[in-house]
Amino acid sequence: MKDCVFCKIINGEIPSQKVFENDRVLAFHDINPAAPIHILVTPKRHISSLVEMNSSNSALLPPLFEAIAEIAKAEKGLKNGFRVVSNVGEDAGQTVAHLHFHILGGQRLDMKMG
Ligand code: 5GP
Ligand code: ZN
Repeated sequence: MKDCVFCKIINGEIPSQKVFENDRVLAFHDINPAAPIHILVTPKRHISSLVEMNSSNSALLPPLFEAIAEIAKAEKGLKNGFRVVSNVGEDAGQTVAHLHFHILGGQRLDMKMG
């Protein structure tokens, strides 16, 4: 989608530090990490957030979670655990309107969820 930062990363217009890639998923390091390990996992197909999910597009979710499991096994710093978050909309602080899951880890994480 035009003017979408993550679509630009996916099509190579904006560089990123890639962690994982297959035909449906790209994962890369967050430019402004909130934890020692902060990886963004995103579908190559543009969809704005989880609120857009329905029976015609939900097949894009399993590859994202399979990628998260692959990354978790490959990144040594995630071996003691990690958190997966997807912000949806303004109240959650979503700043990029292209579905993504944050993988946060590499330290004991703050338990405050809201
Ligand atoms: P959100 O706030 O939408 O849940 O998360 C968006 C994330 O994307 C933020 O953590 C932000 O640091 C990251 N981000 C925004 N622009 C870029 C970029 O151009 N490159 C990378 N690697 N991360 C970005
Ligand atoms: Zn996009």
